Amino acid sequence: MYADRKEIMSQIGVIGLGVMGSSIARNMLSHGFSVSGYNRSFSKTQALIGRNIPGFSGYETLAEFAASLESPKKVFLMVPAGSAVDQTIDELIPLLAPGDIIMDGGNSFFRDTNRRSERLRALGLRYFGVGVSGGEEGALKGPSIMPSGDRESYPLIAEILETISAKKDGEPCCAYIGPEGSGHYVKMVHNAIEYADMQLLAEVYLVLKYVNRLKNAEIADILEDWNKGEVSSYLVEITAHILREKDPDTGNDLIDMIRDVAGNKGTGRWTSIEALEQECNASLLTAAYQARITSGSTLLRTALRGIVKENAAAPVPMQTVHAAYALAKSIAYSQGFALYSDASRRYQWDLNLAEIASIFRAGCIIRARLLSDIMEACRGGAEHLLLAPGFRAQAENNSGSLRELLIAGLHAGLALPVFSSAAAYLNQLSAECLGANIIQGQRDFFGAHTYERIDREGAEHHLWSAAEH
Ligand code: NAP
Repeated sequence: MYADRKEIMSQIGVIGLGVMGSSIARNMLSHGFSVSGYNRSFSKTQALIGRNIPGFSGYETLAEFAASLESPKKVFLMVPAGSAVDQTIDELIPLLAPGDIIMDGGNSFFRDTNRRSERLRALGLRYFGVGVSGGEEGALKGPSIMPSGDRESYPLIAEILETISAKKDGEPCCAYIGPEGSGHYVKMVHNAIEYADMQLLAEVYLVLKYVNRLKNAEIADILEDWNKGEVSSYLVEITAHILREKDPDTGNDLIDMIRDVAGNKGTGRWTSIEALEQECNASLLTAAYQARITSGSTLLRTALRGIVKENAAAPVPMQTVHAAYALAKSIAYSQGFALYSDASRRYQWDLNLAEIASIFRAGCIIRARLLSDIMEACRGGAEHLLLAPGFRAQAENNSGSLRELLIAGLHAGLALPVFSSAAAYLNQLSAECLGANIIQGQRDFFGAHTYERIDREGAEHHLWSAAEH
């Protein structure tokens, strides 16, 4: 024991005192909760002890850590997703009693959370998958929090989680999401929406830089202006900031010194796989993930650089870029919320979509003015966001701008995968014909899969004339 609180039990314990865990622990402490801390390597625990924060006690062994917690013990895990969570749970189980609570605040895959919930329920332990968004600063000052698990046990953790969460208009950006791994599912799709909006802003940057020939600072000015209106968001704000930053080593704009390769930690990939499983079209979310993968295809990019010739294109009017971005961003969020809607039915999670939009409004990375419109549309019972009157009108009014931006960008030889996916998705939904009649014909021709006719009900097989030869 390395703090002066030997006889006082802690209200909660945090395991994993890395970037997120130490910030979450400090957030809890700043709100007056007493916190015990444990980390696999003791140095991080010592670093937190060294801050001398009242209410904190750090431990070198897990047994001492567990013994320091009030009953029912509440343990908040902030370790990497995957085997680290399972290992930590295995080590914790002998130190806990029935009724104790484990919360996993990392980015765990929701199916792992389902599995762990079931395992721990059988042992009499309560398990919560807790999606946390906001990065290091959010974790410290107030993240958006998405807890899921046993509804009856939620009141036991509600006070701590809701107190440390971000606040929007005085309301906590934390709400009970649903059973089993639904909180981690909501966080997973949140991250995929984040990928899509990040990529859209990267594509706006490409158009403004390579078609409109603007300097980084001029693009930053435009984004700052945008951030006062309809498309205002945390991501727009930080992108403007990033474009202004200078490199201390060279004095150049830092953005020009950063390699053109983007990594990922898996949530975008999981969302794409789940969207395929659910048979929901999440094309913008997947295109954003694929864009990161392609950015890392160094061999192919080096070998094929320059094979697509650039054409000079006239600058795209700024209101066109803005309208195209506003629409594509709405479509990205719509696809994410359509996944929530489908998952809610499919897994009987009874998700409250308006509440999900509400807790995204502060603290998290995808916080944006748009979320208030999404809340309203969900409250209005829209089956899909694009069916809500405001979103439908935006799609109708801005689709020309989306097309105009794409034509200029593609003509100039730019890669705009998420804007392209937005236009394809919208054109699909609005088109008279998608060519699916050809697909039906082909499937019946080679595989006798049957086809449906426009003039009568039922599936039919045709003896195709060419097949008889
Ligand atoms: P981090 O800084 O790398 O910290 C991870 C912590 O987990 C370290 O203290 C590490 O201990 C510990 N750990 C690693 N492997 C372990 C194992 N096998 N058993 C026990 N402890 C282990 O990571 P982080 O950024 O805080 O992320 C933690 C979780 O939060 C991840 O699931 C991440 O996806 C999620 N998350 C991160 C962010 C973000 O912006 N960073 C936002 C939301 C959610 P050692 O010191 O011994 O290595």
